[in-house]
Order: sequence, then C-alpha cells, then structure tokens
Amino acid sequence: MSNEIRKDYLLDRWTIIASERAKRPTDFAGRPSRTAEDKACPFCPGNEQMTPPAYLLCVPSEDGVRMEKDSDTTRTTNWLVRCIPNLYAALTPRKAVDFADDGLLRRRDGVGAHGVIIESPNHDEHPGTARLEQLELVVQAYMDALQSFSDWEYVQIFRNHGKEAGASLSHAHSQVIATPMIPKRVSDELQACRRWLKTEGSCPYCKIVEIERGGPRFIFENEGFVAFAPWASVHPFEFWIVPIRHQYTLLQLDATEKRAFSQILRACFGSLANALSDPPYSYGFHVAPNHGNYKYFHWHLEVYPKLSIQAGFEDSTDMFINVMPPETAAKSLRASLPKI
Ligand SMILES: [Zn+2]
Ligand SMILES: [Zn+2]
Ligand SMILES: [Zn+2]
Repeated sequence: MSNEIRKDYLLDRWTIIASERAKRPTDFAGRPSRTAEDKACPFCPGNEQMTPPAYLLCVPSEDGVRMEKDSDTTRTTNWLVRCIPNLYAALTPRKAVDFADDGLLRRRDGVGAHGVIIESPNHDEHPGTARLEQLELVVQAYMDALQSFSDWEYVQIFRNHGKEAGASLSHAHSQVIATPMIPKRVSDELQACRRWLKTEGSCPYCKIVEIERGGPRFIFENEGFVAFAPWASVHPFEFWIVPIRHQYTLLQLDATEKRAFSQILRACFGSLANALSDPPYSYGFHVAPNHGNYKYFHWHLEVYPKLSIQAGFEDSTDMFINVMPPETAAKSLRASLPKI
C-alpha cells in the first residue's frame, strides 16, 4: 500500500497514512548516544552510501563554504551540512494525483516531498552548543528547502529531538515535509491573521512581539528576534521565536538576521538544555504558503518540549491542560540562558 492522505469524515483535518514509514530503522534502542564501536549511524560521515545522494551539500572551500550535490554514484564525505531525500518518506513526489471526493471517505494520493537536513558531521551536535557558523549553515539549509520545495502548497520544516519527541535517529537532523495542501494549523493562523488585519488594520504577530518584549513571559531578544513563552502555552516550557521585523517567510532573512536567528537559537536551546537537562522537544516553523499572496503573515518558530503526555482529554477535545504557567517557565528559561 502506498502513502495516502485521508480527510476526517467531517472535520477539515487530514491524516497522512504512511505505511512506508513503519519500516524505518532506529538507533535509539538502549543507546542514548553513539559509541565508538557503533558505526551504523546512516547520517555520520563515512556512511553516506547508506542514504540517497544529497540534493544539497555545504562543503568547506577557500572562501568559506560552497554548495554542491552528490551524483547518483558518488558521495561527498567532507560536508558540513547534508540534505537528502528521506528513504522512508511520508509523502513522495509522484506526478499523478488521484483525488477521490467520495462523500465521507475523502482521500488523495500521498504526494509531496520529504527531506532530511543533516545538521552537522558531528553526531551529537546540539543547537544549544553548536558554533554560530554551523547554525547559520543550518538556517541557510532551511531557506534552501523552502526554495527547493516551492512547487508544493506548503513546506513544513521541523525538528524532533529525543526518542520521546518522535526522532528515530539520534544524529542531529531536521526534516522537511512538503504537502499538497495547507495544513490545518497554518490555515487557522492565516485565517485569524486575515481577520485581525481586517478589524484592527495591523499584523497580530507584530502586536504580540510588542506585548511580550520585556513582559513576564519574555525570555531573550537580540537585534532581530524575540523569544517568549506564549500566553496560552499548550506544552510546559513551550516557547516561540518571532522576528521583530514583519516578514512572511524565512527567505526574507538578510545576513544580519540570519546570524541573529542562529544566535537566538543557541541561546534558547542552550537555556532549555540547562534548565531541564536536555529534554526531548520538537519544533516547527510556521511560514507563508507557497501559492498566493500571504504577505500579511508573520513567520515564527514554535518549540514544544515533550515533558507531558497528550492523553484522553487532549486527544478528545484539542484542548490542553498545561501544569506549568508560561510566566514561571519563562523565568526559569531566562535564568538558565548560556553566556554568549
Ligand atoms: Zn551519526
Ligand atoms: Zn507582523
Ligand atoms: Zn504558529
């Protein structure tokens, strides 16, 4: 059975039924991190043949870094960041789209793209301790992913850290899934943004930045970005990173902002690791979709530490119980910021 996307009987909620992904390998069983004897990590340098050819590589060069690609038969080994198609893709780039609008049983083919961004040759690289130059390459790879998959409706960039957060391999990596429709969360945010713009005449996220800067939920800010625990945090220690300047996509980052974004990533993930002994977490970017005019949107990164389990109440209501007030979480994250 190939991957497909099914819509809920009634709700505007789509689920990817990804049978292919069930076969993917894991290195987490009893092994929190790689040991010298364990050479089986498919993302570690030297093991490039275990994965498909890279569609993008950052390789060191005389004047910094240059971009390269693997050929079908050869693999570059001295890379700094390596972007590859996911071998166990949730969505695959096929041409024919079988769209069945069959009343209550709506489905469409699981078309899209699924990529992996290997963030460093260093297996245990962590955004809380990585060199700024390396983080900037990762941010550049995120920007390139948005560009590479711009034919699809939406490009979701995300990162899972730790087995409890859904990562199947422990090597530092992010993922990109390009979808043939705008996911519900993003479409809800777009709609709310449009409504706010219509009634208030401004961008709600610009207003949120103004409210949260220096307030009780504030965590960190630099010349481009502000980090805070959101007012109605769903997860304990949830935080968001939002650009201060109104921007609808990561592709609008200039060189200074790219550096500032890398710096705030390091500050916030360093703080999260310090405060809670490196907990599992996921994060995801919300950016403007690819087709249409979404300049009113304000991109941001949402970080979800995995410290509690979504259970019966949350699953049945989409309403959450968070035992950690965002004000307390922000205070503790502020106190745990690393010296940069
Ligand atoms: Zn590795
Ligand atoms: Zn804005
Ligand atoms: Zn969002």
